[in-house]
Amino acid sequence: MIQIVRFPGVVVKHFYYIFYEWVEKPFEGFKFPSNIHGELDFNKMTPEMLVDYEKCESDEYEVLYQGLQRDLESIRQPAVGRCWCGVEVVLQGAINQCKCGRCYNSSGQEKETSNGISTDS
Ligand SMILES: [Zn+2]
Repeated sequence: MIQIVRFPGVVVKHFYYIFYEWVEKPFEGFKFPSNIHGELDFNKMTPEMLVDYEKCESDEYEVLYQGLQRDLESIRQPAVGRCWCGVEVVLQGAINQCKCGRCYNSSGQEKETSNGISTDS
């Protein structure tokens, strides 16, 4: 068992966006990333989103401007353990191998590596 540096958990984050709703399809539409003040974050927008945004703004799309909205996003964080060699290993699968070659399961228990094949007879 290695030392657990961080236990697994869920981090909940708020994210903000400007919402344009289709006139014909309530609750559906376009979400454009923004900051808490409702200023669009163009760096987070893909070229496709920029095209959609222009069409929303120019009334080419029949949408209603719904303004700033807020949503919750939960991000799962796997556990992190510290290997005997000092390197931190993310424990997210059944087998997590450190750079030094040691393997750990998702609870941080050391696993036998397949390097030392014994010739049982
Ligand atoms: Zn290691």
